[in-house]
Amino acid sequence: MEQITKGKRLILFPLPLEGHINPMLQLANLLHSKGFSITIIHTQFNSPNPSIHPHFTFRSIPDGLSETEASPKDIILLFSLFNTECVEPFKLCLSSLLSEEPVACLISDSIFHFTQSVAESFKLPRIVFETGGMTSYAVFTQFPLLREKGYLPVMQDSQLERVVTELPPLRIKDLPVIPKGDPEKYFELCVVIMTKIAASDGVIFNTFRDLEEQGLVTLHKQYPNLLVFPIGPFHKCVPEEASSSISDQSCISWLNTRAPKSVIYVSFGTIAAITEAQFLEIAWGLANSNQPFLWVVRLGLVHGSDWLEQLPSGFLENLNGRGHIVKWAPQKEVLAHPSIGAFWTHNGWNSTLESVCEGVPMICMPCFSDQLVLARYVSKVWKIGLQFENGTERGEIEETIRKLMEEKEGEDIRDRSLKLMEKANVSFKPGGSSYQCLDGLVKHILSFE
Ligand code: UDP
Repeated sequence: MEQITKGKRLILFPLPLEGHINPMLQLANLLHSKGFSITIIHTQFNSPNPSIHPHFTFRSIPDGLSETEASPKDIILLFSLFNTECVEPFKLCLSSLLSEEPVACLISDSIFHFTQSVAESFKLPRIVFETGGMTSYAVFTQFPLLREKGYLPVMQDSQLERVVTELPPLRIKDLPVIPKGDPEKYFELCVVIMTKIAASDGVIFNTFRDLEEQGLVTLHKQYPNLLVFPIGPFHKCVPEEASSSISDQSCISWLNTRAPKSVIYVSFGTIAAITEAQFLEIAWGLANSNQPFLWVVRLGLVHGSDWLEQLPSGFLENLNGRGHIVKWAPQKEVLAHPSIGAFWTHNGWNSTLESVCEGVPMICMPCFSDQLVLARYVSKVWKIGLQFENGTERGEIEETIRKLMEEKEGEDIRDRSLKLMEKANVSFKPGGSSYQCLDGLVKHILSFE
């Protein structure tokens, strides 16, 4: 395969948020390993560091965002702006690249829906990279139906526990909404993204078939002509590269001092934010659980707070080393560490997949969008974790941690997590579903001549 692809150029266009750029760069590495040459077009906002990827060509485009706009705080606004402000600069850049040498196809993040019509105008095939999982994607495709049936927008709190008959075991409160944004704008954005994916030359997912077979079936039903390529988990297929975020390596030396499977790793990804009250409940819940914990408190995680100043004085000291707090952890390395016993997560897709790949049971605290769907799947379908049901209050936190770390229910969850990890490990090896699907993707790209 490497010989026939040699020199063929692909253009990749990642969405400039950590949870999107990193898997796109992993995908770039995967395709590079198949012999393709890679050009990355990127915005100035959150631009990747080219020196970490000397084997790729980078082209920067202006994104036209002001300092206040360039923030993931209002994600619907940010995504909408990307789809208007980037159109002309992207066209110019693409046109210049196409005049330099032949390009096999464009691979763009699904959120950049405008790239479909731009690619069509250049008669360039476009494959979409959807950075979420197939399960939640399949739910997004049902948005028009969910609106028609009155499930969305969510109007009454009294309805939240009701099961969505068409999508069990999801309840209304598990539907992938963004609570703070304008529901109409969000709905419109999701529908355009879905329409443009349906018009594309295929969609790539960082997942594996055994995990999300049902999502795949739904997608085939909904879009019988759409080619779907579940070819993950990427981070297991390509060597880890240095990240642009600075990880605190003290995590690993601290983990080395803890007993096997004893530590709760707590991290809520790169965007989710919590209130001061939640922060304190989490802190006391962890302290009272009597389990060791490694907690990522990202700068900006707690509304209105710089970092740890809300913690009662002497909080960590009183735990005698049982708790370790950092600003950023080498998460994949942490999850693979033998001391890790559970991952308290917001259920971003990357975090969920990384946990699955290491067989680490999850404690789910979803915040918005696909995280809500994933938390429900982790706890009720894959049964590899427990979800907080009443928000976060210290009593529930202690009880959930105890259940997972000490009781029979936790043991069963751990067994299922390990079995799923084995399936993940088989998927990308020769003969595995993702391995075969990647070969199919390469052939598909080569057919675009
Ligand atoms: N991550 C990390 N160190 C941290 C926190 C997060 O390396 O301290 C990485 C994590 O491994 C994952 C990504 O950041 O790959 C977060 O992506 P995810 O889809 O889980 O959540 P998002 O940030 O997009 O909400």
